[in-house]
Amino acid sequence: MKNQVEIILISKKRNFLKNFRFPLPVILISVGMLLFLTISAIALSVNSTHRTFVRIRRTKVERENRNLVTKLDSLSMSLKRARMLFDEHVGQDNRERTYWQMAHIHPDIWSMGIGGKQVERSPHIMNKNLERTINEIHESIDVLKGKYYLRQTSLREIQTQIEESEYLWSHMPSIHPVPGRRICSGYGYRVDPIAGDIRMHWGIDIGAPRGTIILATADGVVDFTGWVGGYGWTVVVDHGFGFKTAYAHCQRILVKRRELVKRGQAIARVGSTGRSISPHLHYEVRVSGMKINPYKYINTSSIIFD
Ligand SMILES: [Zn+2]
Repeated sequence: MKNQVEIILISKKRNFLKNFRFPLPVILISVGMLLFLTISAIALSVNSTHRTFVRIRRTKVERENRNLVTKLDSLSMSLKRARMLFDEHVGQDNRERTYWQMAHIHPDIWSMGIGGKQVERSPHIMNKNLERTINEIHESIDVLKGKYYLRQTSLREIQTQIEESEYLWSHMPSIHPVPGRRICSGYGYRVDPIAGDIRMHWGIDIGAPRGTIILATADGVVDFTGWVGGYGWTVVVDHGFGFKTAYAHCQRILVKRRELVKRGQAIARVGSTGRSISPHLHYEVRVSGMKINPYKYINTSSIIFD
C-alpha cells in the first residue's frame, strides 16, 4: 500500500521474523515528537548546567568580594595608622623649628588635604560601607602626600637656616683669645694705669707672658696689621656681619692683611708694645664701628678674672 512504511524485525538465533506496517504520517509524527523530546532534554540539560556554573561562579565572586572588602578595610586602617605615625614628624618639625628659631608651620597648613576632594561616586558600588572605605583610603593618601611634601619643603628651609646660622656663628667672636689667661682689666671707666686719671677702657686686658699665642676669636679676614699709636703692634680681623676684633700691644704679628683666618688660628704673640707697662693683650670687639664689651662675646666658662 502506498504511504505505508514496513518495518521488519529479524532474529537469526531464534529464527524470528516479524513485520510491522505503519502509515507514513504516523511515522513522521513519531519521528518529529522524538526529535522534539530529544532537543528539549538537551536544552534542559544545558540550562541546568549553565545555572550550576553561574551559581558556582557567583559564590566565587561573592567570596572574592568579601575578601576584597576585608582587605580594603585593613588597608584603610593601615593608612590611618600611617597618618598618626606621620604626626610624629610634624612634632619633630616643630621641635627643629623651635631650636633654629623659626616660626612653626600652622596646624591648618599641615592639615591641608583633609576634607578635600570627594571621590566620584561609582554606580557599580552597591555597598555604602565599601564606598566610604574607598573614600577614606583616598583621603588618607591625599593627607599623607600633602604632609610628606610639606615636611620635605620644611626640611629644605631648616637646612638653609642651619647653614646660615652656622656661617653666622662661625663669624661671631666667641672664644677666649688667650685661653686660660686672666682678665686683669675690664671694659669701662677705670683709673688709667699710666696717666693715673679716669679714662674709658674700650676693651679688656688679658695678662700673659711675652710670646704667648693669641687666637682669632672667629672666622674672618685680616683687615689691618701694623703699628697704631698707643695700641702698638695691632691686628684687626673683619668677621663680616658688622663684627671686627682688635688685638693690641702684640710682640709679633703672625698673619698678613687680607689673609683669611679661622676661629682658633694663631694670629699674633702677646707683647707690651705701645702704651703698655707689662705684657698683655688688649682685646676689643667692634660691632658696626662701636667698641662694645668683649666680655659678652667670650664663652663665660673660659673667663678667669683677677
Ligand atoms: Zn687695654
